[in-house]
Amino acid sequence: IIQITDVTKVFPARSKAETPLAALDGVSLDIEKGDIYGIIGYSGAGKSTLVRLINALEKPTSGSVVVDGVEVSALRESALRSVRLGIGMVFQQFNLFNSRTVWGNIEYPLTVAGVPKEQHQARISELLHFVGLVEHAHAYPDQLSGGQKQRVGIARALATSPAILLADEATSALDPETTREVLTLLKRVNEEFGITIVVITHEMEVIRSIAHKVAVMEKGRIVERGDVFDIFSAPVAEATKRFVSTIV
Ligand code: ATP
Ligand code: MG
Repeated sequence: IIQITDVTKVFPARSKAETPLAALDGVSLDIEKGDIYGIIGYSGAGKSTLVRLINALEKPTSGSVVVDGVEVSALRESALRSVRLGIGMVFQQFNLFNSRTVWGNIEYPLTVAGVPKEQHQARISELLHFVGLVEHAHAYPDQLSGGQKQRVGIARALATSPAILLADEATSALDPETTREVLTLLKRVNEEFGITIVVITHEMEVIRSIAHKVAVMEKGRIVERGDVFDIFSAPVAEATKRFVSTIV
């Protein structure tokens, strides 16, 4: 469902003293429909840049990005709206609207997508049930715990029934217990709706708990990839070995 082929992304130097930096350097990656694909790497490895290319928030310097049969890297800004409607996003800092209730946050993408107002009620209450926040429909984000906020974030991302969910460090701001809860919810999103999920993380535990496949990134390249079970049993790249050794 996502084909990334030989993608390079070079950001212009931010000062004269800096040389331009390849955030991504010849990355190819094929993510199949229904996968939970983990991408792990240290800070600066290029993980978020890769995600931003998938929903076309950035364009590659060279190479191509195809999402659901559409080469998004070649599309003009005006054509991207419909592509982005097919991709949900959840963030580390939740990115909720603090001035809107839980209900209002989940309604927002429905309004943007032009879903008729009379269909909102049914869809929002379905999503509230799914994430277990029916009782909190009229609460504001600052009245919620981190885990509850992320469940709102997930409900909002699912509102327009995307085929793909991108989760960039979705559990990094959460304690271990809440992390498990959110990961369990993401697993249900994958199993019950068949949504393809790309999970970006720097924690191997997250990969182990939900990913089917994993790519290990280092300095803008993918240094190892494969089925999670195989990578855990026989890591080859140094970076992978280091990540695997963090698991007890
Ligand atoms: P983290 O784990 O800290 O989120 P990451 O793996 O997501 O890291 P990226 O955010 O993709 O890493 O960044 C990769 C490299 O590209 C970094 O060196 C970063 O400084 C650089 N970079 C990212 N965005 C920009 C930008 N808009 N302008 C210039 N450089 C950028
Ligand atoms: Mg990042």
